[in-house]
Amino acid sequence: MMKINIMTLFPQMCESVLSESIIGRARANGYIEIECINIRDYTLDKHNRVDDAPYGGGMGMLMQTQPICDCYKSICEKEGKSHLIYLSPCGELLTQEKVKKLSTLDNITLLCGHYEGIDQRVIDNIVDEQISIGDYVLTGGELPALVLSDAIARMIPGVLPNDEAKELESHYNGLLEYPQYTRPYDFNGDKVPEILISGHHENIDKWRREQSLLMTAKLRPDMLKKADLSEEDKKILKDNGYTEYTD
Ligand code: SAM
Repeated sequence: MMKINIMTLFPQMCESVLSESIIGRARANGYIEIECINIRDYTLDKHNRVDDAPYGGGMGMLMQTQPICDCYKSICEKEGKSHLIYLSPCGELLTQEKVKKLSTLDNITLLCGHYEGIDQRVIDNIVDEQISIGDYVLTGGELPALVLSDAIARMIPGVLPNDEAKELESHYNGLLEYPQYTRPYDFNGDKVPEILISGHHENIDKWRREQSLLMTAKLRPDMLKKADLSEEDKKILKDNGYTEYTD
């Protein structure tokens, strides 16, 4: 079973999110193990401090090396080498492709920074890679670690009620998902597309592929440029005025 360790100064913040809904059930049913570990438990400082002012001056506090390194060491002593990811705005931008790769590992540890971040020596000496969840800055790495844990967990067989569902979702195959509808059929005169109530599954699948291509062309043309398009896909795009995807 895959194990994710989250090293944080705020384990309760992570635990409360990860105990709910699909991920909470997946943990309870043994599809994935997630442990939130308090870095403060490893400080050797007699006042329990884990941060200090940066050398050279400047605002804010930095998380110190000793508690982080000792916390990570204790994980590896118990579980063997764990792939250490520091959630950081300086990291590689997270993508579904990256999530898929990480979900194949047996044991990963997510390091959450806080305040001004962490001492560079942690990054230089023990971090395997840095991941960012977007080009903006948050107050701590807890939300990014939760985002990453959730995205990884739903890739693990058994976690989602229907495993095939994830393959149809946005980003999995390089396209956005087609539009979806549920009851009522008619909402204030706005009706569900007729094809979806036709019962003709082949035509529904074709319509969905077409919608998926057109949604991506409209909302994320950058994704479509990198997608693996069949000749039929290119024809659909061309017929709908998107000529730039034809060879
Ligand atoms: N001083 C740092 C900088 O300018 O790069 C920012 C530190 S930020 C206020 C505190 C912590 O939040 C970071 O150590 C990191 O763990 C986390 N964090 C903030 N934004 C993030 C992002 N976009 N992706 C991943 N982690 C982020």
